[in-house]
Amino acid sequence: MYDAHSKHAEEFINNEEILATLAYADANKDNLALIDSILEKAGKMKGLTHREASVLLACSDPEKLQKIYQLANKIKHEFYGNRIVLFAPLYLSNYCINGCTYCPYHLKNKTIQRKQLTQEEIKREVIALQDMGHKRLALEAGEDPIHNTMDYYLESIKTIYDIKHKNGAIRRVNINIAATTVDNYRSLKEAEIGTYILFQETYHKESYQQLHPTGPKSDYNYHTEAMDRAMEGGIDDVGIGVLFGLDKYRYEFAGLLMHAEHLEAAFGVGPHTISFPRLKSADDINPEDFSNGIDDDTFAKIVACVRLAVPYTGMIVSTREGQLVRERVLNLGISQISGGSRTSVGGYYEEEDPKDNSAQFDLSDTRSLDDVVAWLMEMGHIPSFCTACYREGRTGDRFMALCKSGQIQNCCHPNALLTLQEYLMDYASPKTKALGEPMIQKEIAKIPNEKAKALALKNLTAIKNNEGRDFRF
Ligand code: SAM
Repeated sequence: MYDAHSKHAEEFINNEEILATLAYADANKDNLALIDSILEKAGKMKGLTHREASVLLACSDPEKLQKIYQLANKIKHEFYGNRIVLFAPLYLSNYCINGCTYCPYHLKNKTIQRKQLTQEEIKREVIALQDMGHKRLALEAGEDPIHNTMDYYLESIKTIYDIKHKNGAIRRVNINIAATTVDNYRSLKEAEIGTYILFQETYHKESYQQLHPTGPKSDYNYHTEAMDRAMEGGIDDVGIGVLFGLDKYRYEFAGLLMHAEHLEAAFGVGPHTISFPRLKSADDINPEDFSNGIDDDTFAKIVACVRLAVPYTGMIVSTREGQLVRERVLNLGISQISGGSRTSVGGYYEEEDPKDNSAQFDLSDTRSLDDVVAWLMEMGHIPSFCTACYREGRTGDRFMALCKSGQIQNCCHPNALLTLQEYLMDYASPKTKALGEPMIQKEIAKIPNEKAKALALKNLTAIKNNEGRDFRF
């Protein structure tokens, strides 16, 4: 039987339950009365079970699909407003001893240039990122116990937090590194990481074993139970995701939601974020060699159905997606995006080197952060560089409580606007500035609570007059 409380991967990601869910979804995909009742439940904004959400994902009725999309957008606005949080990945090292068949870092790839940043190189990368305006990073690395040790990560995190260049500072360091031990997770927590991110790649055990034939990552259970160990080690914000294109998307979708249900059942708090990576071409990887690729419509539908299932969870789309797809999913529940990203090791500081092939995958959105910020505002989204929740200790269930209370509008909204003001003053082009300043005024006027509004105006004036910057964001 499916047991979300169990700490064993094969029980909380139960293959039989996923197959039964898919059969149930197939049997009910045209059951419009059931679909209406699921949509009604989704409208209460308290989430859906993996079975209910799987029925919506299987449904292809155009009218119901429109309802799903509208509701996804409504839920995103209810909990996250029109804010979109911005971040950038920072690739520390592409040394790797795993055999993942879809990733160019795999051990047998002898053509990729192997690189690991030294602390000096990290400083240069971080200064380049700060000079773009970034405040939030996601550290990325392959798995290699000799090159990429826990000590290396801990030293790198300290280096990053210590760099204060002009008005720049990295205020939240998230980390996407291989599954590890409870003790190592505890050390990462002590080093004050934000979210620990680990993609499951695929929840389908047999496929997982074929796609990860060698190396430590080949242990399905160890990988799948990583978030349990992370939470045991005290990390309360974890980020999950699957790499779409590896296995059948409906199986992955059910697995992803079961994983979220498990974390909620076992630890009282679901995943802080869910990411939506799709397989991309890379040094020696051709996505066409994989038969489970999904088209843009399916991708959009997955995003929207996840939003209905987990209303409070942050949802992330990276520069693996191009501008148009990003535009679409920003209206279907996405709350965080990367901007101005480089996936090569050392790519922010180094001049664009045509011979460099250290990248993890090809980017589809190559615009600068400034272009991304302007584009977001043109579409009515507020680009946010805020990291207050993390700095104020509002992580894990405390963040979820804030989100569930709806108070995010009086708290996150002003913080986002103030960080945008900082960005405009420090880094924006004249065009972006001209778009942003009136938007900030307009948005502050809309803050519902009068006290929160007055405080936001006071802080805005202080930033503009250079009277102080640290307003707990
Ligand atoms: N080494 C870490 C681990 O074991 O999970 C992960 C970090 S890796 C730098 C980040 C993610 O990139 C992987 O989890 C995978 O989902 C994704 N990735 C790998 N190859 C990719 C490709 N060809 N296209 C798109 N994403 C890819």
